[in-house]
Amino acid sequence: MRISEKQIQQVNNRIQALVQSNSFYGEKLKASGITQIISQEDFEKLPFSEKSDLRDAYPLGLMTAPEEEIVRIHSSSGTTGKPVIIPYTAKDVDDWAIMFKRCYEMAGMTCEDRVQVTPGYGLWTAGIGFQNGAEKLGAMVIPMGPGNTDKQLEMMTTLHSTVLCSTSSYALLLAEEIQKRGIKDQICLKKGIIGSERWGEKMRRSISEELSIELYDIYGLTEIYGPGIGISCEKDCGIHYWDDYIYLEIIDPITGKTVPDGQMGEVVITTLVKEGAPLIRYRTHDLSRIIPGECECGSKFPRIDVIMGRTDDMMKIKGVNVFPSQIEEVLTSFPELSSEYQIRISHLEGKDTMRIYVETNGTVDFLDLSKRVAEKIKSKIGFTPLVKVVEIGLLPRSEKKTKRVIDERYE
Ligand code: ZN
Repeated sequence: MRISEKQIQQVNNRIQALVQSNSFYGEKLKASGITQIISQEDFEKLPFSEKSDLRDAYPLGLMTAPEEEIVRIHSSSGTTGKPVIIPYTAKDVDDWAIMFKRCYEMAGMTCEDRVQVTPGYGLWTAGIGFQNGAEKLGAMVIPMGPGNTDKQLEMMTTLHSTVLCSTSSYALLLAEEIQKRGIKDQICLKKGIIGSERWGEKMRRSISEELSIELYDIYGLTEIYGPGIGISCEKDCGIHYWDDYIYLEIIDPITGKTVPDGQMGEVVITTLVKEGAPLIRYRTHDLSRIIPGECECGSKFPRIDVIMGRTDDMMKIKGVNVFPSQIEEVLTSFPELSSEYQIRISHLEGKDTMRIYVETNGTVDFLDLSKRVAEKIKSKIGFTPLVKVVEIGLLPRSEKKTKRVIDERYE
């Protein structure tokens, strides 16, 4: 996707703001010697930014607007080391809500909807983003936050929530709970806005069928406003993103070169109008591709594919590069398996082993099923994993992100 004249102008404005404020990234741009661009080629010479850079700027080194204009901060918790602090101006907060409202409209929501928000509130961008966007739309927000399934279901049934905002794992947990309690006839949900983690086709089908709702994938990350910079549409073929707020590139994660449209690689995002903490060429480590051409839904906003995983999810096992999404694709082709799985990699007696735990109900022969799954995975990745079949419900479900790959080689 070529950068437009207007976007080049917007990037130049952001570069000027960064340089003038002496912010962390402004210093980096000065050091690189590029403080103005006139073409795509110039743009592609700008240095990338990384989560580790943002950590080095802790606490407020990213602040690019004067402090009196900063109205809020958010923070993304790193699994290791210092968190990243992102300052927002009033305009940034409003822009984010406008983008989020656009997401809701793309999903066909209106001011008549009642929106149950289950992602967390606090330092991270989840809950409050879903809320501000829904309020901008004029819908009624039920700001639950995560957890307390009894209370969630009570509010859902008595207030007749029509939209569920959730992670995929929590949506699945709620769907299973609703079925278990036999209260589906009291549920008025029509849509689910699902964010924050990659989820397979099978999980999507389970949630959608058990709750009888349409599902939309929402995309975003705390460093770039938060969730709401893009969403899937009713045609369900990729995620439209708002190119008047962000410029998005796909690069080869190894070489750093941009790849042609349609080709898979790492998503890199530049914010075009952000004031509190503009980011230039921020490496998300999310894997996706630009979908060429216009969408059947009629929207002119460009699309990326649903996120296929993380560049750092790549596992090197027995010298072979394996992505969890490859395993998941195979598991999806077995209707007798549930949507849950767990991959454990360990190093035993001098060699790598991969064990895959999957779930099924008691009606099938576990041994035969494990053999068939192992064979199909071998045909996909080149070596045979150990497949263990367990009773449905035994694998962990969580309200936040479910950890599906456990690499015991480095523990
Ligand atoms: Zn579309």
